[in-house]
Amino acid sequence: MNIHEFQARELFAEFGVATQPGKVASSPEEAENVALALGLSGGKFVVKAQIHAGGRGKGTFKNGFKGGVHLCGTPTEAKDLASKMIGQVLVTHQTGPDGKEVGKIFVGEAVDIARELYLAILIDRATSVPVVIASTEGGVDIETVAEKNPEKILRLPVHPFLGLMPYQTRIIAASLGLTGPLMSQASKLFTNLYRLFIERDCSMVEVNPLVVTKDGRLLALDAKFNFDDNALYRQPSIVAMRDVTEEDQREVEASKHGLNYIGLDGNIACLVNGAGLAMATMDIIQHAGGSPANFLDVGGGASREQVASAFRIILADKSVQGVLVNIFGGIMDCDVIAHGIVEAAKETGLSIPLVVRLEGNNVEAGKKTLAESGLKLEGAENILHAAQKIVSAVKAAV
Ligand code: ADP
Ligand code: MG
Repeated sequence: MNIHEFQARELFAEFGVATQPGKVASSPEEAENVALALGLSGGKFVVKAQIHAGGRGKGTFKNGFKGGVHLCGTPTEAKDLASKMIGQVLVTHQTGPDGKEVGKIFVGEAVDIARELYLAILIDRATSVPVVIASTEGGVDIETVAEKNPEKILRLPVHPFLGLMPYQTRIIAASLGLTGPLMSQASKLFTNLYRLFIERDCSMVEVNPLVVTKDGRLLALDAKFNFDDNALYRQPSIVAMRDVTEEDQREVEASKHGLNYIGLDGNIACLVNGAGLAMATMDIIQHAGGSPANFLDVGGGASREQVASAFRIILADKSVQGVLVNIFGGIMDCDVIAHGIVEAAKETGLSIPLVVRLEGNNVEAGKKTLAESGLKLEGAENILHAAQKIVSAVKAAV
């Protein structure tokens, strides 16, 4: 799960991670009031579009307005900038061509930046421990730094039981050239950020840029969080920050029914029981010359209702031109799947090709249910056969 930058700042405030003052606003008037309340005499403001994607500074709105991060000098200008961003669609290299609609903006203090640094904490899957990533090259994509100047990136593994040790915070600070008073600010910031990372079950936190201001402050200017979905049950305050309008609507719907669904951009939908089988099915669709529209695992013990909901989600997707059902009934009863398919297909008036491969527990009853349903569908004896059938049926239909 992801959150917005203004929500990340609430977490920073709670855990004592230094950041510049500011607040979120949903309308131009509110933006002006936030700027006024900041009471920066002679200071500057920053106005930032709030979307679940980075690269906002270099992004462009669909109405032609350039940039999702702007500096300005007065509350009236902040109001004017807000009116150009709220309700508009911002496209960045992370949003894809469709972009994301901006519902809220953040208005904060603009600071005079001396240096832009990079700092992240994430779980390293290879070593199974948290790792701190730091670089003097902040404000740009870390992927670019990794490609062009890999020597400028520090990777520091953290022992999960010991946590981030004081000597490690000094290693990171030194690698970023933070000395004297900045080193003590850095140690405090890194320690608090690490505590936040662990206590809130984050899988990633990225601060890009972490800045040194001309007046000698070390501040987190931007923040991106990822949370471990499997830990959300014990993080009610994080769940409360979820903004479903930022998520793939097919995935939101699927999560309501306890289905593991990930939308992709192909045209052949698959409905499968078991994550491994789902991956193999996607691979084999590709192998047969097709392109999967989703990953969908209905789980080992799905109910008839879940199967029907899964089918509805698939069929509501306009890019889907064919459906492949691949079920290996272990715990799962094939007849339960068959009833779910029939129910949903009848209700939605299925008009695209459907290939069903059923195998395992109670398969004969399942096949009989499908055969007697009057649905137009093709059976298949094995997974390769099934993939080839759906790929050619879709090609023939378009
Ligand atoms: P994104 O990564 O989505 O483009 P950032 O928050 O990193 O958004 O902002 C982009 C750039 O804008 C930063 O790298 C920084 O140079 C500048 N910037 C952001 N916030 C401020 C601020 N409060 N004061 C001055 N400059 C800022
Ligand atoms: Mg950034």
